[in-house]
Amino acid sequence: MSKQHIFRSGQNINPAEKLICSDHDEPFIFYCVDCDSVVCKRCAVKKHNRHNMSEINESVLELKAQLAQCVESSVKDLMNDIEHLQEEKRGYKSENKSLIMAINKDAKLMKDLIDQKSEELINSIKKNEKKNLKIMSTAYSELKDTFDRVDKIQMSIIDTAKLSDVALLLKIKQLQAKNDKIEKKKVPYILKDRYSRKEITQNEIGKLFGELYSRKTPKKTQTNYRQEERKYRCFTELRGYSNEDLKKTSKENQHRYSYKDGKTDSEETDSSEERHSNDSSFSLISQISSEWD
Ligand SMILES: [Zn+2]
Ligand SMILES: [Zn+2]
Repeated sequence: MSKQHIFRSGQNINPAEKLICSDHDEPFIFYCVDCDSVVCKRCAVKKHNRHNMSEINESVLELKAQLAQCVESSVKDLMNDIEHLQEEKRGYKSENKSLIMAINKDAKLMKDLIDQKSEELINSIKKNEKKNLKIMSTAYSELKDTFDRVDKIQMSIIDTAKLSDVALLLKIKQLQAKNDKIEKKKVPYILKDRYSRKEITQNEIGKLFGELYSRKTPKKTQTNYRQEERKYRCFTELRGYSNEDLKKTSKENQHRYSYKDGKTDSEETDSSEERHSNDSSFSLISQISSEWD
């Protein structure tokens, strides 16, 4: 038994047969408040004469009432805890939703700005391209025109094969003059766009976003909630019985349930009536719990 446990055996209780006084071989019927132990009718008039005593039945009822009250308080605490946790969960999920929305908003803004910037760069290239293609086209026309004229002169030179020397001289002079008139254009110099790439690292992208960090719940939301660890343990004031004694002594111990506080297993007894009222509380908890997901 845990040393925290408040119930303890009376000194004159025989461990082997706890309901019978080992000194007088009589059943315990009284509880001696002064000695904090159970006594038989012969003890009552001898060793415990004139001591403050009550009947075990009365004591048990009082004990039961205290336990029931204590358990009810635990149930209320647990329900508050569960309710608080669920509220926390709702708030937490809602806050996260806002965070995700904020991040998406930033990401959308940045994507839009990136699209806008790349469009700007591309438009600049296209604008220059249009201008340069026009220059190239003009240059092509001029070169083609020049080519045609030079080509004609070349053909004329070939055609001079049958001419007499005099005629040839005249022809050459004529072609020479034509050729001299041809202005030879140069291929235009085109200013090409260049793009120096930047190495884009994840770190640089990260810098564009806000900072994501964890923080504790602000204190103002904790004022209505006790953060300290709760101990769901019942302390009753009556002494003189072990748990085993109580189980045997209680006339209404048909209903038992096991309640774990996470550290020590303990078994309590309860009346059917109180059991019923606690049952409804527990089923309420299970109802709350089932709403978790
Ligand atoms: Zn006795
Ligand atoms: Zn006594």
